[in-house]
Amino acid sequence: MIDACERAPAWIRTFAPYVPGKPASELARELGLDEAGIVKLASNENPLGVSPKAASAMRAALADLARYPDANGFALKSAIAAHHGVDMAAIVLGNGSNDVLELAARTFLAPGASAVFSRHAFAVYALSVQAVGATAIEVPARDFGHDLEAMASAVRADTRMLFVANPNNPTGTFVTGEALCALLARVPRNVVVVLDEAYTEYLRDEDRYDAISWLQRHENLVITRTFSKAYGLAGMRVGFALAHPDVADLMNRIRQPFNVNTVAQAGAIACLEDTDYVARSRRMNDEGMAQLEAGFARLGLPVIPSRGNFVCVRVGNGAAVFGSLLREGVIVRPVGGYAMPEWLRVSVGLPSENERCLDALRAVLAPGHR
Ligand SMILES: *Cc1c(COP(=O)(O)O)cnc(C)c1O
Repeated sequence: MIDACERAPAWIRTFAPYVPGKPASELARELGLDEAGIVKLASNENPLGVSPKAASAMRAALADLARYPDANGFALKSAIAAHHGVDMAAIVLGNGSNDVLELAARTFLAPGASAVFSRHAFAVYALSVQAVGATAIEVPARDFGHDLEAMASAVRADTRMLFVANPNNPTGTFVTGEALCALLARVPRNVVVVLDEAYTEYLRDEDRYDAISWLQRHENLVITRTFSKAYGLAGMRVGFALAHPDVADLMNRIRQPFNVNTVAQAGAIACLEDTDYVARSRRMNDEGMAQLEAGFARLGLPVIPSRGNFVCVRVGNGAAVFGSLLREGVIVRPVGGYAMPEWLRVSVGLPSENERCLDALRAVLAPGHR
């Protein structure tokens, strides 16, 4: 390592970057295959493709690209405020919700501070905490899900932040609104609780809870949402946080002013209005989840019951089965990096894609397959 790099902080030198899902184009190059024949169920993307309304709004936005985006995102914030019944001052826009998660960490953490999250929780929490030189407190999971009581107990005097993903990725596990309220009641008010609701649109009606209404009485609550999943805009990179105006103000001060580009802002506004698209996404997800669960059951493979748009299935040697599936042109996500080496995470796709995945899995798990 060159001298300049040796002087970088230890927490940067030991950083192990986020491992994204393998792009279909990359596998196509590697296998010499047609990209169109590859099934990618690796990144929890929306299999419906972009909403036509969002696509047309984004095309219209192309006319203005010589100008900088609206740094305050006025139109998008107005749309979010109206949609969710919040004040515009409560909103922080992000280049994806990963951006707001990282902003929250940069706002409230520093060397000497600690942050609590669960084992098997979304990888971005650990990365955001490490990137600012803070200390991670990883709490053991219960049945792969968040143990909220243990997490509340893990809060120390130097703890400034606690992350909860609901549902969690990659496990798909879910905690009830009641359990979240109990957590908020226990965590000191000087600890920021980040509630990551990236998959909340997929929840069944009976599981729904309204965290946004809790912002009134919990000034330390930060809710994050994304346009990448049920809204189908993963490639545009838009997400946001809802928080107490004082919290939002601090986060907005260190936010890059043009972090959400013009086209993304236009697309997100159109998506928010396209309730039909979100409803179709949900329906397709429910059906695809049932299809995958039934298929895995036929193969005798255990799953972790999931409330997201993906499900973890236990296949034995996750890395090996992942490799075999790649050779069949099916990309799923190995989760060895999440301390789940026997599992694979499969995103719910179109019915035909789910079928291809199940067929490929049957083939590669058959005795004698090599
Ligand atoms: C996908 C995901 C996000 C969203 O990421 P974006 O940056 O908004 O695309 C956030 N949290 C969790 C738990 C996720 O799985």
